[in-house]
Amino acid sequence: MTLTLPQQLAIHGGTPIAAAINKPVWPPVSPATAERLKDIYLTGKWSFGAAEEQAFSQEFAEYHGAKYGIFMANGTVTLQCALQAYEIGPGDEVIVPALTWIATAMAVLEVGATPVFVDIEKSTLCLDPALLEAALTPRTRAIIPVHILGGMADLDAILEIAERNNLIVIEDCAHGHGGKWKNRGLGSWGHVGSFSFQQTKTMASGEGGICITSDERIAERLYCLKHIGYGPHATQGKAATTPNTDLQCHNYRATEFQAVILRDQLKELPELMEKYQANAARLETLLQDVPGIRIQAKGRCATTQNYYGWSFQLGEEFDGIPFEDVENALKAEGLECSGTYGPVYDHLLWNIAPERYRVPEGGCPVADIISTQCTVAMAHFWLGSDEATIEAIAAAITKVALNADALRAAHAERELEAVG
Ligand SMILES: *Cc1c(COP(=O)(O)O)cnc(C)c1O
Repeated sequence: MTLTLPQQLAIHGGTPIAAAINKPVWPPVSPATAERLKDIYLTGKWSFGAAEEQAFSQEFAEYHGAKYGIFMANGTVTLQCALQAYEIGPGDEVIVPALTWIATAMAVLEVGATPVFVDIEKSTLCLDPALLEAALTPRTRAIIPVHILGGMADLDAILEIAERNNLIVIEDCAHGHGGKWKNRGLGSWGHVGSFSFQQTKTMASGEGGICITSDERIAERLYCLKHIGYGPHATQGKAATTPNTDLQCHNYRATEFQAVILRDQLKELPELMEKYQANAARLETLLQDVPGIRIQAKGRCATTQNYYGWSFQLGEEFDGIPFEDVENALKAEGLECSGTYGPVYDHLLWNIAPERYRVPEGGCPVADIISTQCTVAMAHFWLGSDEATIEAIAAAITKVALNADALRAAHAERELEAVG
């Protein structure tokens, strides 16, 4: 993109880029899926464990390189069950990244264990393995790396540390559908991979989640945990055995309707991932020479990139401008974007007493600064846009970046007015 003199920002009265921005439909809807849903409705086989769920669980697990898939109600209880399957509970500590959706840490609390927050890497926004070992104690039992937004956690380093310290690794892949690391699916590298199918995710059925694993014993335990103690081969109402006494089981089952929707989406996933990757690459090319724009790093060994979002960080060119002003300027151009979650322990919905979790001394400065003061994220579905929209997105970001001085001046002026 040629950099010419900046046009006036929409927020300062200029013409917005918006006209060229064409929002893709999310979640995707298809008449063929609607027909299949109608069939299920008419047969009355609505609940769990039927043909579509069995096929989907198997197909999803295989796609991601694991043997077993255990379909559940959402991507929070999947994390919780994964912890329970390994008997992680009161007295145990579990490492979670400081930047993630609160569910990752809430699941740890839900089983009675203590979440221990570790800061993130600036480049990928994922758990920083260099800080991991310092956070371990004799009580640490597990690590939950999160492959966040459009980045992958450093599995090489994390798995090595886990193995050396005899720790369980549960990959939170709520942002990881379809992602492949060294050509094998995310979620199959740790002991268990946990995915969410909540409405905003890259595969969506309104609500839903799945655990994948290649360990048969753990797969059985996960199934018992979500299905009030019945194993995968039991007939409901005819319990043949009592679940192990170390398992307190639940009803976290999902329905056949969700499985139908997801099974159809899984067929489209490779194509969707290709499109996302091509458009992300195009955006990177368009923005590579724009001052102050740094794209989130993907992860060292990504062969297929996961995208829950597409994000970039603001460089020092934006110093002295409140993040909100940049966000508002982008929005005025027509770009739907936001900051990230921020550190879990600062989230408005985190109402947990400080003695129930641990934050390292000095806090998590990277998660704090990067995620609240300079990371701009867009929902993944924008990567499914047509060519003109991708160019308009890049144009809007470029326009705001080239107008950093105007934003800084407007901010300084407001400050003066406030004082005067
Ligand atoms: C969405 C999400 C979850 C939880 O999934 P739900 O299905 O909403 O319960 C867990 N971890 C991360 C990182 C998420 O984004």
